[in-house]
Amino acid sequence: MIEIDGSFGEGGGQVVRTSLSLSAITGEPVRITNVRANRSKPGLLRQHLTALNAIAEICGGRCVGAELGSSEISLYPGSIKPGEYAFSVGSAGSANLVLQTVLPVLLHAKAPSKVTVQGGTHNPASPPADFLLECFLPALKKLGHQAEGNLSAYGFYPAGGGELSVDVCGGAPSDRVDWRERGPELSRQLEVVLSNIPGDVAKRELKTASEGLDMDLDANCKFSYPKSAGPGNALIGRLNYALGTVMFVEFGEKGVTAEQVAKRLVKQMKSFIASGAAVDHHLADQLMLPLALAKGGVFTTTRPSMHSRTNADVIHRFTGKAIRFEEAGAAWLCDVD
Ligand code: ATP
Repeated sequence: MIEIDGSFGEGGGQVVRTSLSLSAITGEPVRITNVRANRSKPGLLRQHLTALNAIAEICGGRCVGAELGSSEISLYPGSIKPGEYAFSVGSAGSANLVLQTVLPVLLHAKAPSKVTVQGGTHNPASPPADFLLECFLPALKKLGHQAEGNLSAYGFYPAGGGELSVDVCGGAPSDRVDWRERGPELSRQLEVVLSNIPGDVAKRELKTASEGLDMDLDANCKFSYPKSAGPGNALIGRLNYALGTVMFVEFGEKGVTAEQVAKRLVKQMKSFIASGAAVDHHLADQLMLPLALAKGGVFTTTRPSMHSRTNADVIHRFTGKAIRFEEAGAAWLCDVD
């Protein structure tokens, strides 16, 4: 049994999610102690509990400690079963992070699967559904897998109520990838997603962000007004390079002006543009696992976060694959064995 101290490194939810995925894939039982010990509300939250139960169902496994607030959990995996699965977080906890936990597992099944998850689809500090659909799933496809997603309902934090599904089927692992060069920028786009929030917020965000990025407001900016259970506002920036789309997001918050939200997005995007990197730091930490399970690869990114380094350590514990980060001018190289 692999023992993971959940307080090591970043000590957050990723240690739990990556350990669960890899336990199911490798067939190695895992015990995680000090679950999310470095968070202000430690232990399993609904999102992590949903991921644990989902993994156990998919791999016919047995789990211990599957309760809200649990600080110690174990998973004894069985064998992975493809099929049609539906999970509900039961709160605005991130449906996308539950999907990111189960997808790598279902890529190892012998037949296609479909997974639907209800919960939050647009939460601060999580990949928004758009990121999953436009950045993460396309990366899986480049690795030779089939992965098609559909956002059927928006769920903004804190109301939740969103729904996202993915059809997935693992393919033969592609060759080792080389994503060091992002290639020329083909286009850039801004999108304001607004639900149950006054429309002038959208105009102010787009005006400030388009000025900051020297973009033509009419040609490259769009408004989306989806229905959702509660209010929400996301400002999304896309940089479309030859290699693929790099996405940035900022969420509207009480007490933060529309202009401040836009300036935060501009700052993120300008800093990425200046780095010359091909992969942003969020996708970097999400790519390491599928790469380690395929034939590895190398990509450029921005300075690795504590999140990425911790995730790399967990992946190494289960797979023995080394993941190295090395400074390379304004960017960093991430090399996955
Ligand atoms: P906690 O750490 O509090 O337990 P958690 O389980 O919700 O929280 P983290 O461990 O912090 O989550 O992981 C969050 C994940 O969401 C990481 O993979 C991170 O890269 C990703 N993420 C956060 N913000 C964005 C964003 N703007 N775009 C894409 N991905 C994001």
